[in-house]
Amino acid sequence: MDTNELINETYRKMGISERIIQMSEEIIAELKDRFEVLDKTAEYNQLKVIAAMQKNNVSDAHLGTSTGYGYNDIGRDTLESVYADIFHTESALVRAQITCGTHALTVALAGNLRPGDELFSPVGLPYDTLQGIIGIREEKGSLKEYGITYAQADLKDDGSFDYDAIRKGINERTRLVTIQRSKGYASRPTLSVERIGELISFIKGIKSDVICMVDNCYGEFIETIEPSDVGADLVVGSLIKNPGGGLAPVGGYICGKKEYVDNAAYRLTAPGLGKELGASLGVNTSFYQGLFMSPTVSSGALKGAIFAASMFERLGYTARPSASEERYDIIQAVDLLSAERLIAFCKGIQAAAPVDSFVTPEPWDMPGYDSQVIMAAGAFVAGSSIELSADGPLRDPYTVFFQGGLTWYHARLGIMKAASEVLQLDSNML
Ligand SMILES: *Cc1c(COP(=O)(O)O)cnc(C)c1O
Repeated sequence: MDTNELINETYRKMGISERIIQMSEEIIAELKDRFEVLDKTAEYNQLKVIAAMQKNNVSDAHLGTSTGYGYNDIGRDTLESVYADIFHTESALVRAQITCGTHALTVALAGNLRPGDELFSPVGLPYDTLQGIIGIREEKGSLKEYGITYAQADLKDDGSFDYDAIRKGINERTRLVTIQRSKGYASRPTLSVERIGELISFIKGIKSDVICMVDNCYGEFIETIEPSDVGADLVVGSLIKNPGGGLAPVGGYICGKKEYVDNAAYRLTAPGLGKELGASLGVNTSFYQGLFMSPTVSSGALKGAIFAASMFERLGYTARPSASEERYDIIQAVDLLSAERLIAFCKGIQAAAPVDSFVTPEPWDMPGYDSQVIMAAGAFVAGSSIELSADGPLRDPYTVFFQGGLTWYHARLGIMKAASEVLQLDSNML
C-alpha cells in the first residue's frame, strides 16, 4: 500500500465517509498553489520572530522563572522586548496575569479611558464579551458604570466603512477608538491590515490625538504586517490564540506606544507598580516557544479554514469567508441552518481531538454570551482556540465558527469528521 492509500484507509477506520475522502483529495489538489503562498507568509513570519529573539539576545537565562512579586524577571521583560520588536511598537505587556483576550482588552481600555471620555467603534458592534466590558450589555464593573460612554458607526451593507457616520461619531470626548480585526460572531468580513490602516489614517485626520486600538485576536501572523505597522497605537490579543502557538497555557498581550502600555500595566497591577511586578510562574519557556511556533501553527490553522470553506461549499452550505476569498484571520464561519447540524458539526470536531475525543459537546449558557453556545474542543490547554475547535451560538442561521488546529493534518481530519457527521445527519433525515 502506498502512503496515501494507508492514510485513506486510516480515515475510513476513523469513520470518515468515502465521499468525504474523495472530495478532500480533490480540494487539496485544487488548493496547492494557495497553500504555497501561505507557506511563504509563514516562512517570512518565522524569520521575523527568530530575528527579534536574536536581536534581544534571548538566552537560557530567560527561560527561568520568578515567584512572589516578580521583580527583575529578565525572561518576562526580554519577552516583552521581543514582542515589541515583532509588532514594531515602543513597548509591550505580555503576562500570565492577563487571563484571556477579554481581560487584555479590558485592561487596555480601562487603563486608558477616564470618566467623561467616550469610546468609539467605527466597525459596528464589538465581540460579545466586549459588549459587557463597555456596558452595551449591563454588567457589573462595566466602563459605563465609571462614566465612560460609548458610540459606534456600523459598517455599510457591503462591508465598507461608513466614513460620514465615522466623522459624525467622533467628538471632543472621543478618547479611544476600538477596531476589531476579526469578525468574531458577526457576519461582516474580517478586516485586512491594509484596510485597518486606511481607517486609522482617516480617524487620525479627524482627531490626531485619539488612541487607535486594534483587537487583534485571531489575526496574528496571518499577514506579513500587523496593525501596529499601519498606525495602531495599541494592539491587543490572547496567548491562547495565535501568538501562544498552542504552547502558552494562559496569557494575553498588549503592544503599543509606551504611555498607553504603561497605563494598561497600572490597571493590570496597580498605580505606581505597573510593569515592574508580576511573577512569571514558570510560563516563560512556553511563552517563548509558543511564539516561536506561532507562524507555522497559525498558517496550518489557516489552511484548515480554507479547506473547511471548500468542503462545506461543495456540500451546499454558505461559507464566510468563501473558499476563494483572501484571509485575514483563522476563523471560518459556515451557516449550517439548523441546531442539529451545528451540534453534529461540533460532535465531529470533538471526535477528532487528541484529548477528550470520547465526550459529546452540548449547548450551555456560557457567561458573557447572550444566547446558548455549543463548543467543541479537545485541547491540551483548556478552551484554547488555536487548537482545533468549533463553537457557535444557537441562533439563526446556526453558524458554526471553526478555528485552529496545531497541525494542518489535525485540522484536515477534524473537518472531514465534522463533514461526515453533518452528511450522516442529513441522510438520516431523508
Ligand atoms: C476571542 C476573542 C476575544 C476574547 O478573547 P477571550 O480569550 O475569549 O476572552 C475578543 N475579540 C475577538 C475578536 C476574539 O476573537
